[in-house]
Amino acid sequence: MKIICIGLNYIDHAREMNRPLPKEPVVFLKADSALVKNNKPFFIPAFSENIHYELEIVLRISRLGKAIAEKYAHRYFDSITLGLDMTARDMQSALSSAGMPWDISKSFDGSAPIGEFVPVEEAGDLNNISFRLERNGSTVQEGNTSGLIFDFNAVISYVSKYFTLKTGDLIFTGTPAGVGPVQRNDRLTAYMGTKKLIDLLVK
Ligand code: MG
Repeated sequence: MKIICIGLNYIDHAREMNRPLPKEPVVFLKADSALVKNNKPFFIPAFSENIHYELEIVLRISRLGKAIAEKYAHRYFDSITLGLDMTARDMQSALSSAGMPWDISKSFDGSAPIGEFVPVEEAGDLNNISFRLERNGSTVQEGNTSGLIFDFNAVISYVSKYFTLKTGDLIFTGTPAGVGPVQRNDRLTAYMGTKKLIDLLVK
């Protein structure tokens, strides 16, 4: 199983990071050991002083596919959920300024908590999904898939040129604006529409 992630996929987030809008999807991977389910706590790793949350819609791939055309991409995922692309921002900045791969800042153990999956048929219009993150009861991120630079089908088509997609693979589709740091004892609660899909503690 692999976890494919898209960076800078919402205009407002690219702006807050002072980055130009990407012309093609920005792709990176997380290890399967990053995955955390069932609202188990997120543990702040000892190697970072600045862990950020990034709330994202996550797609679950439901069949084998390679070089998938955009018009058929909707057939390749059957359910979606929310995920937190937890990021060691201090390490990411340092590695990226040094021109080094920043994988460890994004792919460390526990860096990909996800919620319960919702069947696509129950998710409504995929181009108009609202989602938001509360930190200790205050909303810190609000997004809508209408703000995606590359929509789900475009993302699947693009990544499947390079990686064969397999059943059970996950795609984190990018975060909207409002990313920020977590602290020990924070509570992170995330909603897709009115459905609460993530409710976990930071330890
Ligand atoms: Mg992200």
